[in-house]
Amino acid sequence: MTLQELGEFGLIERLMLSVTHLLPAGVEGIGDDCAVIPYFNDHSLLITTDTLVENVHFTLDTITPLDLGYKSLAVNLSDIAAMGGEPLYAFLSLSLPPETSLKWIDQYNQGFLQLAKENRTFLLGGDTTRAKELTITVTLVGQIANPYIKRRSQAKPGDFICCTGFLGDSGAGLHLLLHHEMNHPLIEAHVRPRLYLKEGQWLAQQTSVHAMMDISDGIASDLKHIMKASHCGAELNINQLPISADLKQMALKMNGLAEDFALHAGEDYCLLLTIDKEDYARLSQAYEAHFKTPLFLLGTMTEGQKLICFKDGKKLSLTKQGFDHFKILI
Ligand code: ADP
Ligand code: MG
Repeated sequence: MTLQELGEFGLIERLMLSVTHLLPAGVEGIGDDCAVIPYFNDHSLLITTDTLVENVHFTLDTITPLDLGYKSLAVNLSDIAAMGGEPLYAFLSLSLPPETSLKWIDQYNQGFLQLAKENRTFLLGGDTTRAKELTITVTLVGQIANPYIKRRSQAKPGDFICCTGFLGDSGAGLHLLLHHEMNHPLIEAHVRPRLYLKEGQWLAQQTSVHAMMDISDGIASDLKHIMKASHCGAELNINQLPISADLKQMALKMNGLAEDFALHAGEDYCLLLTIDKEDYARLSQAYEAHFKTPLFLLGTMTEGQKLICFKDGKKLSLTKQGFDHFKILI
């Protein structure tokens, strides 16, 4: 069998299963947005790492160094937000082709350090090497009070499924960039994803919020992580997917389905959470009053294991055929 057949998540599961020695008390490893390590005073450290590779995650002509600096830290901050934490320290490893200009590097650093400053995150170290293509790995350390840690594994059947932002904008922005459209409001969502750190911390303090993660691979894929970790199924209402006016307009122009981007395109980096349905009305009102932006209701966690989607009241299976449009579009 090859890695291509096993896939990314198959490999991660294989790694997870091969760690057979017992973790020390309070330590949580592979499987969530961050690892958890006991700290002091009933707090834990949250640790996460993410890599961006040239020609896999970006190309040099589709993102400026300033935006890449921002984004390489942002995708890690999003994993801290996903568990409800507060960022503390960053480590930055850069693998660079020798012909990279110093101007490019200065602008990259500016983008990175500006976002770090805005989030009181201190760059403590990293590594620098030569490489054929640019590779950026950021490791981020955060902290959280133990009772507030939100995991992927705590969803319960009957919980409402919600997210904090529009879905599909980033994927649509990437699509435009790949088609040499450089000036469109959707591009901002791709190169400078909005962060939900304050929202994550606020939601973490709500006991009726059960499971939480960030959406990095598209909701259809990420919801399955919550389902698997929580041993639940889910029903998703496609008509309720939060789709921005910009994405609707773009999809219309290209005879595509905005919902395909919303379901499958990644890198939106908003939060996906499940909430005790009895508290949903109160919580969503309080959230909206506080953050002036809605908690979007998308569906319900169920008993069982399946993800069932409804559109216009009818069941819709997310088979390849059903959503081939997306592949053609992207
Ligand atoms: P995210 O999209 O939230 O960054 P990933 O899908 O990258 O999460 O990873 C899922 C989980 O698998 C995380 O807990 C991560 O730490 C772990 N993981 C990913 N790759 C590896 C690896 N090569 N070795 C060990 N753990 C890994
Ligand atoms: Mg994540």
